[in-house]
Amino acid sequence: MQTVYLDNNATSAIAPEVREAMLPYFSELYGNPSSMYSFGGLVGKKVAEAREQVAALFHAEPSEIVFTSCGSESDNTAIWSALTTQPEKRHIITSCVEHPAILNVAEYWAHQGYRVTRLAVDEQGRLDLDAYASALTPDTALVTVMFANNETGNLFPIARMAEMAKAKGILFHTDAVQAAGKIDLDLTRLPVDMLSLSGHKLHAPKGIGVLYVRKGVIFRPFLRGGHQERGRRAGTENVPYIVGLGVAAQSALEHMQEEQTRVAALRDRLERGLLASIPQSRVNGDPEHRLPNTSNISFKNVEGEAILLRLDQLGICASSGSACTSGSLEPSHVLRAMNVPFNYAHGSVRLSLSRYTTDAEIDYVLKELPPVIASLRKLSPFKD
Ligand code: PLP
Repeated sequence: MQTVYLDNNATSAIAPEVREAMLPYFSELYGNPSSMYSFGGLVGKKVAEAREQVAALFHAEPSEIVFTSCGSESDNTAIWSALTTQPEKRHIITSCVEHPAILNVAEYWAHQGYRVTRLAVDEQGRLDLDAYASALTPDTALVTVMFANNETGNLFPIARMAEMAKAKGILFHTDAVQAAGKIDLDLTRLPVDMLSLSGHKLHAPKGIGVLYVRKGVIFRPFLRGGHQERGRRAGTENVPYIVGLGVAAQSALEHMQEEQTRVAALRDRLERGLLASIPQSRVNGDPEHRLPNTSNISFKNVEGEAILLRLDQLGICASSGSACTSGSLEPSHVLRAMNVPFNYAHGSVRLSLSRYTTDAEIDYVLKELPPVIASLRKLSPFKD
């Protein structure tokens, strides 16, 4: 049976060129990049090259790139740094549709006595900029709002929001884990102070991330110890993964324009086909401002988990809600925040494509998914 992998927002395949580039650093090139001798220096040069490749993805300076272990670490660090360098300020603004790597951290800080504003979204998952403007106060230490939502693919107006925060001297962080590598992120035009990325969403391995910290931003490390990453993140560098991430960033940049168009066309064909052949189905999210690869579709009166199990039997990998929350039968916090009607929210599936998704795979899903929904509806206890 073929595997049709449509869960790229959960994690993505390691690109062949990434794997190739990493291999020598698991074997003969094992030196410590901080060593004085040339055996280590060689490795150090490769880390520097990867830093340049990652910086190029955002039009940033290499010195603004801090390698971390994952997107979650980058998110935790950004919040930690913003709050501990401005102890007099006691307010955080975020949105109610963030990933748990932000929401649960904000919750932790709320327990430490911080006031947290979680901006609401409308039925298409869009933020209200007037509500945001009135939430910005002299006591606000940090705004942290994601660039793209992992479940719906919605893109938020981060450039505008960052400008508004900047005008009031407030730090701005964006979790760009889902956006990085999929769409253009130009930090010369995007006035954010910090930005998070995760390698495994852009065809690098799991366990490597980046926190971009704009030059001049006062920063306090989360992980203390050695002086790696210019004192911003302790721990001997994860050289193979850093090298892999550099190559993944370069590849993403090279393929971005053409892949964005190709993947969006595939995604749109998939959505159109499913909506046409499955009655009582709907797409969740903002049709105008969305990642090109993501589709969140709800089918009325069916259980999302049941759909996933049937798809799994057909070799199709997808997720309901987000991968991190699957296993729970509660509709996702994102769909709940968008007020997706209960009998639709329960039957929602996220299909997320990548540059490896083919036309034939989309044809396969278009053929197999409609009968799955029809048969589950016959068994469903939910009726109109
Ligand atoms: N932020 C978003 C928007 C995500 O989608 C994810 C992972 O799904 C993360 C953060 C966490 O990234 P990592 O798995 O690298 O910790």
